[in-house]
Amino acid sequence: MDNRIEKLVENVRNIPDFPIPGIQFKDVTTLFKDAECLQILSDMLYEMYKDRGITKVVGVESRGFIMGPILATRLGAGFIPIRKPGKLPAETLEESYDKEYGTDTVQIHKDALNENDVVVLHDDLLATGGTMEAACKLVKKMHPKKIYVNFIIELKDLNGRSVFDKDVEVESILNM
Ligand code: AMP
Repeated sequence: MDNRIEKLVENVRNIPDFPIPGIQFKDVTTLFKDAECLQILSDMLYEMYKDRGITKVVGVESRGFIMGPILATRLGAGFIPIRKPGKLPAETLEESYDKEYGTDTVQIHKDALNENDVVVLHDDLLATGGTMEAACKLVKKMHPKKIYVNFIIELKDLNGRSVFDKDVEVESILNM
């Protein structure tokens, strides 16, 4: 295994039964806390996307707000937040999605992107894919040229990547 991947895997904190029994929570704050891990994440994300003409990084609230802007500055791109309802001040577009219990909604500013943008959406973790699928639908409403999707961690047994359309390229740093 790549030394950098090994270092990251060692520093993800596993929390059993959080927030509810049966869920093994992958805590990425221990990656952000460690200076070397934070640098590795920044470098690996940059290496993945540096030659793709990315103009905007879109981060999903709230753990997508940490590496998202770091990646954006490395790429010389802008940063766009996708937020929970009632947080964005200007006109928004919104998308609702089913969760294990009930539904959730995400919003983006209506003027956040346009058809000239090449976008990478970023969040910390891919589980079922519901959150990022809704985020992708929001971004598609603004017809960017290309959409990439990125996670720090992908829970591969849940096969969350199967929810994305074929034209969306999905990549993760760690498969767990
Ligand atoms: P999903 O929509 O099922 O792909 O869930 C993804 C969102 O829920 C991400 O924003 C994650 O931060 C969070 N999440 C889901 N499952 C876990 C887990 N096992 N450990 C940490 N975060 C999780």
